[in-house]
Amino acid sequence: MKPLTLLCAVLLFAVGCTQHQEERIPIMEGVSGKKSVSIAELQEVASMGLGACGRCQRKWGEGNYGHSTMYDEHRGCFPLCENCWRELATPDARLPYYRQLIDLQARQEEIFDTERGEAERHWTLLERAVMEGK
Ligand SMILES: [Zn+2]
Repeated sequence: MKPLTLLCAVLLFAVGCTQHQEERIPIMEGVSGKKSVSIAELQEVASMGLGACGRCQRKWGEGNYGHSTMYDEHRGCFPLCENCWRELATPDARLPYYRQLIDLQARQEEIFDTERGEAERHWTLLERAVMEGK
């Protein structure tokens, strides 16, 4: 199972669980030996808003699409919808939403105990792309 598929399955599960917050769900052993996550941690990931625009909070789909910012040949992200991206008008106004996305990804690395710093390593490239108006 690909990590992204696994993450989606875990998130769907977490959204469905509103009780038993102290219950723990096994994960593939993390880099520092973590073997499970709590329902509360899964709910935190599920509530991070990655399925919606970071500014207007509208969910993706049904006419609301993210503005894709490619920061290298193969990688991109979309913390803002097209409408918010245009309304914010300047790279300086947009940048905090990209930073927020990196911070959320860093928190996910912590919760799922994956290799740290992956999100942060992307920041330099991403910041440059945003400042170039992408
Ligand atoms: Zn928006």
